Amino acid sequence: MILPTISPTPDLRPGLENQTATPAPAVLTPGASPGKTQTSADLPPAGLSFDPPSSDLFAVDPVQRTQSLEDIATLIAACVKCKLCERRTNTVPGEGPATARLVVIGEGPGKTEDETGRPFVGRAGELLTKILEAIKLPRDQVFICNVVKCRPPENRLPQYDEIAACLPYLHRQIELVKPKVILAMGGTAAQSVLNTKQSLGSLRNQVHRFRGTPVIVTYHPAALLRNPNWKRPTWDDVRIAAHLLER
Ligand code: URA
Ligand code: SF4
Repeated sequence: MILPTISPTPDLRPGLENQTATPAPAVLTPGASPGKTQTSADLPPAGLSFDPPSSDLFAVDPVQRTQSLEDIATLIAACVKCKLCERRTNTVPGEGPATARLVVIGEGPGKTEDETGRPFVGRAGELLTKILEAIKLPRDQVFICNVVKCRPPENRLPQYDEIAACLPYLHRQIELVKPKVILAMGGTAAQSVLNTKQSLGSLRNQVHRFRGTPVIVTYHPAALLRNPNWKRPTWDDVRIAAHLLER
């Protein structure tokens, strides 16, 4: 397998800014023999697979009956299915083309997102835009959304009942976009999409599946802003997603 050459942004590769040659960073796969590294041309092993039932045409549930991303956004705008509706300024359904090959999933809207109704437009969003540019994907070609579509107060973690209430929207978005790859950023996104309680650390470095679509799990951009040491592993994960997109 030939790895597509991707020129990373310096920002994503701490410590590598001054190197002239950029050898492919090695990805160490859990279970790989000690001392032996694997280039990222080799994909990580298969992980969890989650197959929630898909909707059918005769369903009575309005979410299942939506036929476009706009239809879903309209339902979300009026949604009062969980207590996050009480303090929101705007709903943040997600944005991007229905033809996107990559769906990126975060946790939930922050302050700027709540104010604007758009996903990932604050500082974490700027970093996400750079990450996507590093794999030559303009942000406007990606469908970007969150697990919950309304801002949790003070940016607390979304609670179990809130996630459960909101997930049908995400499932339907994925069903309509039919992406080639899903990138779940952070523990909330990874655990919600894969229906697991496993830690982010244990979910990384595997190719999971959601209804057959590959899911790559990585750190949340907001976590990278707090801990730059996670930029390198994030870069490894994102390259795997890029590689899957090329296949
Ligand atoms: N963090 C998220 O998880 N989503 C956003 O939209 C913004 C920040
Ligand atoms: Fe509805 Fe989701 Fe907003 Fe809760 S977070 S009110 S389920 S759109």
